Amino acid sequence: MSYGDDYGTDMEAIEDLRHDADLEQAAMEREGDRLAALRAQGICTHSSGVMYRNPPVYPEQVGLRPGQSRCTEGTGGCEFVANSDAEWFAAVDAL
Ligand SMILES: [Zn+2]
Repeated sequence: MSYGDDYGTDMEAIEDLRHDADLEQAAMEREGDRLAALRAQGICTHSSGVMYRNPPVYPEQVGLRPGQSRCTEGTGGCEFVANSDAEWFAAVDAL
């Protein structure tokens, strides 16, 4: 194998990686734009939350039962409470 072949293969591999990273970046930007558009419409995207903890560390954790999570996006969140992680992710996926 010549030096030239190795070099060509390596450059192709690097180009492929770069391409994958670009696609990933573009997908993340699209998702970010989509969520920002929802928020601009006043729709909560449940981007942050607190999980049940006893004793509570954050005021938002007061009143939660084991397994529950409460949305804390923005100022005080939207009062959305999920009864499980699956319910939380389902709500986010449904946006
Ligand atoms: Zn929310």
